[in-house]
Amino acid sequence: MTIRDWAEPYKIKMVELIKMTSREDRLNAIREAGYNTFLLRSEDVYIDLLTDSGTGAMSDRQWAGLMMGDEAYAGSRNFYDLRDTVEEYYSYKYTVPCHQGRGAENILSQCLIKEGDFVPGNMYFTTTRLHQELAGGTFIDVIIDEAHDAESEHPFKGDVDISKLDALVDEVGADKIPYVCIATCVNMAGGQPISLANLKLVRQWCDQHDILLVHDMTRVAENAHFIQQREEGYRDTSVKDIVYEICALTDAATMSAKKDAMVNIGGFLAMNDAKFYEQACALVVVYEGLHTYGGMAGRDMQALAIGITESVQDDHIHARVGQVQYLGRRLRESGIPIVNPIGGHAVFLNATKMLPHIEQDHFPAQALAAALYVESGVRSMERGIVSAGRNKETGENYKPNLELVRLTIPRRVYTQAHMDVVVGAVQEVMERRDEVKGLRFTYEPEVLRFFQARFEQID
Ligand SMILES: *Cc1c(COP(=O)(O)O)cnc(C)c1O
Repeated sequence: MTIRDWAEPYKIKMVELIKMTSREDRLNAIREAGYNTFLLRSEDVYIDLLTDSGTGAMSDRQWAGLMMGDEAYAGSRNFYDLRDTVEEYYSYKYTVPCHQGRGAENILSQCLIKEGDFVPGNMYFTTTRLHQELAGGTFIDVIIDEAHDAESEHPFKGDVDISKLDALVDEVGADKIPYVCIATCVNMAGGQPISLANLKLVRQWCDQHDILLVHDMTRVAENAHFIQQREEGYRDTSVKDIVYEICALTDAATMSAKKDAMVNIGGFLAMNDAKFYEQACALVVVYEGLHTYGGMAGRDMQALAIGITESVQDDHIHARVGQVQYLGRRLRESGIPIVNPIGGHAVFLNATKMLPHIEQDHFPAQALAAALYVESGVRSMERGIVSAGRNKETGENYKPNLELVRLTIPRRVYTQAHMDVVVGAVQEVMERRDEVKGLRFTYEPEVLRFFQARFEQID
């Protein structure tokens, strides 16, 4: 890929100044934050790669959309714009706005899951699995084995292993499986795509067993980019058309619009079935807001509708994924162990390999994220044993094969020079890796512990 394949299709109209800090400032800040990058103040961060969620830069058109907000309690014009945009770009007939992705997951799970059900998916996501469990279900991982191998170069590590679905039906019966949940560009596998060929097989399988197919479409445009680049027969198909084709293969979707759709807050649940829509509307008024705003301001629904149209432009998505690939390639060239192939929204450092002297129970990825911050002011996120949490039945830690630190790139925010600074910072940590110490909990929250846990260093 050359620079002209991914150089930005926009120019900068407004900037936000960021603070430069000293090593001593950062040492104090990380101690105060209990070695958890989620507990740092954003003020103390130089380059913030914690997440691509809600951190993108809106376009001038999206900002103009904010001025078009119709803040009526019921029947806002912006809701109808959003609903029509979702149907036009994503195929789903009914849209229930929600304050963000997990709001949609809550309503989906409560509508469809009964106590004792099983929900297969292509790898877990933190909030998704929790809502399934809270509704009485059990998550079952049916992603291909290659997804759990950081070294595997499989081009579609988000694919489902159909034999794992078959095994689940044999064991529990189809009537215990309310739906299969498919994420596009699987976050926890390293931003890895699912192929259309595989998705079509999953669709067939669901039809055979009369089971719904639900789409976690948080990063569908990035997934479509990889299909265009890698899957036989899609080279000349636009990202917009591929996005539509993916969505049209599924029955319903949850969306965290803070990712692909480039708004600071928002999401939705969408579906084609009128009965399901009715049920979701009855619940959204309890947990989010009236069914025509679902916890979002009218103006935010408008910015979201515009963001959707921008997110599927080929030039946009090539620049977005191109910048992530640039960072990943430069890290790989300098000998840093990362997850391959490089994903769509983030580069994942392999903490097991970078810090072989720290055992998994001492949270190597958590320690690496803290060390990277101290080195450079770059904020990243642990995606390993801390994020995986504990099994609610046994109380044991889930022990994921992948112990990763995620460098997540916000959309349209940072420059190539920033990416180069990140590469230098990771190299410096790599050179001084023997000095990085393992951690232990001083505070462990019961659910989604990674957000608020605190740690201390083990000497
Ligand atoms: C972020 C995310 C969610 C949850 O969405 P929120 O907007 O953070 O509540 C669900 N699934 C995936 C794959 C995500 O990346």
